[in-house]
Amino acid sequence: MFSSKSVKIPETLKKVAEIFNRNGYSVYLVGGAVRDMIMGKGVHDYDLATDATPEQVMNIFHKVIPTGIQHGTVTVHIFGMHLETTTFRTESDYSDGRHPDKVEYARTIEEDLSRRDFTMNAIAADLKDGTIKDPFDGMGDIKRKTIRTVGNPLERFGEDGLRPIRAIRFAGQLGFTIEKETLKSISNPDVIRKIKSISIERFHDEFCKIMKCEKPSVCLRLLEDNGLMDIFIPEFKVCRGCIQGDKRGFHEFDVADHNFYACDGAPKDNLIVRLAAFYHDIGKPESRTTETIGKIEYIHFHGHETISEKKCRASMTALKFSNDDIKQVTHLVKNHMFFYESTWSDSAVRRFLIRIGIENLDNLIYLRLADIHGMHNVAAVPGSPTWNNLVELKERIAKVVSEKSALSLKDLKANGNDLMNAGIPKGPHLGKILAELFETVTESPAMNDKEKLVELAKNIYEQKIKAKQE
Ligand code: ATP
Ligand code: MG
Repeated sequence: MFSSKSVKIPETLKKVAEIFNRNGYSVYLVGGAVRDMIMGKGVHDYDLATDATPEQVMNIFHKVIPTGIQHGTVTVHIFGMHLETTTFRTESDYSDGRHPDKVEYARTIEEDLSRRDFTMNAIAADLKDGTIKDPFDGMGDIKRKTIRTVGNPLERFGEDGLRPIRAIRFAGQLGFTIEKETLKSISNPDVIRKIKSISIERFHDEFCKIMKCEKPSVCLRLLEDNGLMDIFIPEFKVCRGCIQGDKRGFHEFDVADHNFYACDGAPKDNLIVRLAAFYHDIGKPESRTTETIGKIEYIHFHGHETISEKKCRASMTALKFSNDDIKQVTHLVKNHMFFYESTWSDSAVRRFLIRIGIENLDNLIYLRLADIHGMHNVAAVPGSPTWNNLVELKERIAKVVSEKSALSLKDLKANGNDLMNAGIPKGPHLGKILAELFETVTESPAMNDKEKLVELAKNIYEQKIKAKQE
């Protein structure tokens, strides 16, 4: 896989190369696609680099979208593919930590490769035959599983504060190690200043990619050790060193590592649960109390989920997550401390389900499994008591759902109009009556019958509302 000096270009891409070449331009496959091909991994998108200007690319292809014309990038739509195509560029100053001040086109692919972040990302493959250009021994670094900047790391990180975060993300995504000098430069004060200047949106995107790595804990630890967690998620600091293990042996790690390993234990493709796992115990340090019974000290974190929820909301808002993401994640964090027991009545199961919302149930269970994973950095074992407890809870829930009992107001067999038709006057008390009907039905599903509900509503109105008004 490493000895060859070419990669295999798919036939459709060769046809695209022919169009460029026929018009007198060269074109290369660059970036992650080449890296992933060399590693023998599947490629998810193809980035091209060419000496044709954006205007020239627009002239030779039928459908071209100017997706990032200020960076010299257009997207060519052809043969069902969307090919991000960027004109060779030179090094530009990323002085505001965001965008290059100006785009300057380069003449050669070598010049273009020299402005790229890491050696493994600075390899080009000629699109017509796959011949490799690798001026910085990126293939060697891929072989050694090493992330190394192209040129001096202090300079390269000093140009763009996102690069250190990308290095950390790639470490988790590819399972590579960051080369010593490159790593050391991340915490250099000048680089830290540059990192602080990047836009939150750029950090947000990298943070989400980190959360989707096989083991986010690898990246989270690197962020923390190099001072970046303090910059972007300052709420996290108090978790480090917050000891939670007592004689009961629930916890092996401090809150920080517990949260990290909980992330690893959440499903890789489920960002919501991964984030909830990251934040679920962030409120523990503030709620920590100890109690000594006999000679044994116990550690408690009463009500920590409410503090975690608050901190999670503040952090996710600062990181510019969408309102919907924040709502879903904080809901899970707030409700992660449930303890199902077989003795729960059906109405207790219904009340639990109503509080959680059926749409959040799977995520809450995934979060519990992640939480268990975070305790000793091992997954819950199928068939173990904790596992069986969750399976039983799911079965009980399936049962109450199949009974078609009312799980929200709209499932009630009587609505506001029915109550008004029965002679109850319009007014804010209708909402209160409906809420009481809903509670009754949660306790006794057999009450979910229009006639019975209308009758009950009339009684509530006569006895609790009209009587008060008189
Ligand atoms: P993936 O798409 O799998 O996240 P990638 O390496 O393709 O990884 P992109 O963000 O798609 O990453 O960028 C494509 C290429 O552009 C990179 O491989 C790298 O050569 C270059 N690049 C991207 N961001 C930067 C940056 N901040 N500084 C320098 N070069 C960069
Ligand atoms: Mg890419």
